[in-house]
Amino acid sequence: MAQADIVLIGLAVMGQNLILTMKDHGFVVCAFNRTVSKVDDFLANEAKGTKVVGAQSLKEMVSKLKKPQRIILLVKAGQAVDYFIKKLIPLLDIGDIIIDGGNSEYRDTTRRCQDLKAKGILFVGSGVSGGEEGAWYGSLLTPGGNKEVWPHIKTIFQGVAAKVGTLRPLCEDGYGDMQLICEAYHLMKDVLGMAQDKMAQAFEDWNKTELDSFLIEITANILKFQGADGKHLLPKIRDSAGQKGMGKWTTISALEYGIPVTLIGEAVFARCLSSLKDGRIQASKKLKGPQKFQFDGDKKSFLEDIQNVPLLWLDPQLRTGVQAGIPMPCFVTALSFYDKYRHEMLPANLIQAQRDSFGAHTYELLAKPGQFIHTNWTGHG
Ligand code: NAP
Repeated sequence: MAQADIVLIGLAVMGQNLILTMKDHGFVVCAFNRTVSKVDDFLANEAKGTKVVGAQSLKEMVSKLKKPQRIILLVKAGQAVDYFIKKLIPLLDIGDIIIDGGNSEYRDTTRRCQDLKAKGILFVGSGVSGGEEGAWYGSLLTPGGNKEVWPHIKTIFQGVAAKVGTLRPLCEDGYGDMQLICEAYHLMKDVLGMAQDKMAQAFEDWNKTELDSFLIEITANILKFQGADGKHLLPKIRDSAGQKGMGKWTTISALEYGIPVTLIGEAVFARCLSSLKDGRIQASKKLKGPQKFQFDGDKKSFLEDIQNVPLLWLDPQLRTGVQAGIPMPCFVTALSFYDKYRHEMLPANLIQAQRDSFGAHTYELLAKPGQFIHTNWTGHG
């Protein structure tokens, strides 16, 4: 007998948490996943003893759903979404609803909306922002697509969405912010020579100022975190930052529309450059930088300057231009490219730790290439 209010396909970190949140709001959810064994694992562990049900096939899944059928996809953006839509079409009736909750490129969403409308199936693309924690405590939902869907999803969406004022604001995957934090970490580590606990303390202090934010908070936790061996985990993480496409698509669209989102663009390229790890190892042995730098200024006031995002890291030739207020985005970018490429180790290990902390995206240890692991950064190693 049809019993489920809604189906969620995609049992990675986002999907699992969103199912549990919908369950907490009184909805009966049916779980499904491409790798079907993950349905049984989920029902036997995270969803044990709850009203969450599962299905072993798409056919069984739709048989458990009330009408109109509402299906949320929380799978990898791109071909995984088209794969499931293609499989679902023959199983759905006119008026049934597909909601893509992943980070899909907006033109894909427009195309899917039009294709499905022609078949009488209603489609909505709705980003679910806020990462793993957001899917659990309340997400920022941004539905767009077929308007007829709204009366059928309103109660569920309004139930699981973050409530401003009752819950603390949740993070966006802030590409620019993450890169700025990494550059601050790099300055603290290599210019000021700060120990990791001191850096953690600085981020904790910043979190009590106007910089108070989710990303500053998780960065303090990451810097403090020690593994079972009693050593800090962060320096062991491979400094090669991953990405799933959001920053890239934002930058491509910005170029198309002529919108200067330069910070996000630079942050995306910084991740691309960090991924050229082998080349950087070679370059770090050959490319010359400034003579070994010994900071002899006032560390406390330099730290305050970092907090205020100054341009102190520019080479002396550029400093005069900066002091004269001359904008030099290309000079700065060219110098940064050179300086990044001649570094064997970049602060991208912190980006990897941040991505793992808020989105369970996993990371690689320098000592164990090819093995991707996840850590609970607020727990103990
Ligand atoms: P994910 O790693 O992006 O995707 C994993 C899910 O996609 C699994 O269910 C996997 O099935 C399925 N999948 C992958 N390739 C597939 C293919 N070719 N065909 C069919 N299924 C496929 O999971 P996630 O991190 O939970 O994210 C889900 C969505 O939410 C994504 O669009 C992501 O960009 C977005 N999002 C994520 C976060 C975050 O912090 N993690 C935050 C906001 C939004 P198998 O188990 O069979 O491999």
